Amino acid sequence: MAEMDEELLRRHRDLILSATGDGVYGLDCEGRTTFSNPAASRLTGFSPEEMIGKGQHDLIHHTHANGDSYPIMECPIHAAFKDGKVHRVSNEVFWRKDGSSFPVEYVSTPIFDDGELVGAVVSFRDITIQKQAEDALRESEERYRKIFDATHDAIFLVAVDGGAILDANEEACHMLGYRHETLTRLSVADIHPDEAEELRDFFAAVTDHGKWKTDKLSCLAKDGGRIPVRLSASIIRLEGRDCALVLAQDMRDYIAAEQQTRKLQSDLHHVSRLSAMGEMASGMAHELNQPLTAVMNYTQASRRILASDDAEQRAKLASFMDKTVAQAERAGKIISGLRKFIRKDAVDRSFEDINEIIEEAGRLALPGGSADNVDFEIQPGAGLPMVLVDRIQIQQVVFNLVRNSVEALADSRQPKLSVSAVRDGDEFLRVIVRDNGPGVADELMDRLFSSFVTTKADGMGLGLSICRSIVEDHGGRIEARPNEGGGMVFQFTLPVSSGSDGRDG
Ligand code: ADP
Repeated sequence: MAEMDEELLRRHRDLILSATGDGVYGLDCEGRTTFSNPAASRLTGFSPEEMIGKGQHDLIHHTHANGDSYPIMECPIHAAFKDGKVHRVSNEVFWRKDGSSFPVEYVSTPIFDDGELVGAVVSFRDITIQKQAEDALRESEERYRKIFDATHDAIFLVAVDGGAILDANEEACHMLGYRHETLTRLSVADIHPDEAEELRDFFAAVTDHGKWKTDKLSCLAKDGGRIPVRLSASIIRLEGRDCALVLAQDMRDYIAAEQQTRKLQSDLHHVSRLSAMGEMASGMAHELNQPLTAVMNYTQASRRILASDDAEQRAKLASFMDKTVAQAERAGKIISGLRKFIRKDAVDRSFEDINEIIEEAGRLALPGGSADNVDFEIQPGAGLPMVLVDRIQIQQVVFNLVRNSVEALADSRQPKLSVSAVRDGDEFLRVIVRDNGPGVADELMDRLFSSFVTTKADGMGLGLSICRSIVEDHGGRIEARPNEGGGMVFQFTLPVSSGSDGRDG
């Protein structure tokens, strides 16, 4: 009866061993195979006969994946029947009969008989597919991490509930001056102190709309510096919880550039006002000089006519006349002093790149908006020498010419405008502003550069005369001519040699 039971038990065990997909084999204390199941043969290619009684380590476990030999004394399976402990390994390979190998996961369990260690049973499985999936996952994670870290803007992954910073990219660490481990122990409230209300509003909006942006927050860096940022966030669900992926764009450079542009614009307006005043004063001085000269002439003539009159009256009249002449002369001197002053002696000249000047002035004159439909092109000249100029004044000239063209193009169907810089002989550069607007009437052509000549209801008629005085002051010339095929070409020259400084010439 007992034999029957034992037989039944063995058959039962064999059936289980045959049915399992894992390879199973038994070892005695010398590491020799005592039994193996069909899956073990299928996985390794060795038949049970080839395995039984042989050292299993030498058969299927002799070499590491990298080709180094694997001494049996270092083998965890071998250790199991020496130390009596269970060993679980998943980073090794087993070798097949055909010489190929496969990544394996195995458990080696010691077998005790009546408390005595008699061997071990090893169960193993081929984990090629699992490994491939793990490798693919790791590569994919690496890929996304690289993208995450290579992004120029700072990125934070924030738990919507509580605001903990779960992850941050390299740029975020760099921007705030924290190491990754430190930053990911902080919460958004730590990097936006004193902005609790704005922060709450922002996250409420992100949660409500799924996406949101704000310019209202600034980050506090580790060194205490404030960094104005533009935040844009979207909600993503990760590992079962709502997170906000927050992109923080450092706005410092942008704000500095904007301030610079504003300053440039205000400089231009300032110069424009100064120049306008100068032009006006210079026009007045010119006009006043004539009557003053006449006063002097008539007074001197009167003095001569009065020569024959009563002696006492004559003396008085003569003295008045002398005073009149003296006053007229004084007025003349004041006016000529004023004109000298107006001639912009306080200029600030330096060597400048004309391409940069036309680029900057063009950009300022066409800030988008109404002029958006103008086909505007800046054609910088190649290899042009530097010019010694007052940068702001020359920008003012380009700015005025471009604004005039834009205004002239207001009703054009296909408005085109270009600004280019070219070499003009050895001694000059030439800047050309060309438009395809309505052009200028013939009778106006000769007077374009005179003060107070305008065809605009709200025009002052000073722009072109200012341009001319600036250009001539720099030793150049400005002229206007009709554009071929319609419109106007305004062009001015600037001397390139150092001797061209208009103030001295
Ligand atoms: P304002 O612009 O105040 O009228 P300007 O001296 O700059 O003063 O210009 C004088 C006049 O020259 C303008 O009123 C306009 O009639 C004419 N003008 C200037 N530039 C152009 C242009 N590109 N196309 C057509 N007319 C122009």
